[in-house]
Amino acid sequence: MHRSRSLRKLDRVTPKDRHVIHYKRRPGSLPICAICKSELNGISNASNKKGRTTATNSRLFGGVLCARCAANIITLASRIEYGEMKLNDISIVERAYVLQMISH
Ligand SMILES: [Zn+2]
Repeated sequence: MHRSRSLRKLDRVTPKDRHVIHYKRRPGSLPICAICKSELNGISNASNKKGRTTATNSRLFGGVLCARCAANIITLASRIEYGEMKLNDISIVERAYVLQMISH
């Protein structure tokens, strides 16, 4: 357990002058968008905030993509579905999500 890097080592001196090491958990990182790497809104990693609505967004690709990228993917998916664009015209990162949209 104490080998884990997710725990921070804190040197402390007790009132009886003994040197001890306290272990404290580091805060987790905030969730980021899989395409543009910006922080996702509406999601909290605070331990005092629990519940269904703080865990993720109920939107399409909620908790994976930001709202702007999700809207872009929906637009691209419909354009490809109706033949206005080809799958090779878009970037390989976006292609994975567009294929996911089309398959549903
Ligand atoms: Zn994004």
